[in-house]
Amino acid sequence: MVKEFECRSAGVDCPFMVRDENENELTSLAQQHVKNTHQKNMSRDDVLRTARDV
Ligand SMILES: [Zn+2]
Repeated sequence: MVKEFECRSAGVDCPFMVRDENENELTSLAQQHVKNTHQKNMSRDDVLRTARDV
């Protein structure tokens, strides 16, 4: 099952989007982006709650 995380879904006006079928990878890519680009920390739960199945 592939999950998709979009910054937009997290309420940030940013075109970043990542798709991955591996939850751990998706989480770490999203966390890195949010930290580096938005100086915010998202927990794994936050990322997975925001992500949707595609
Ligand atoms: Zn972003």
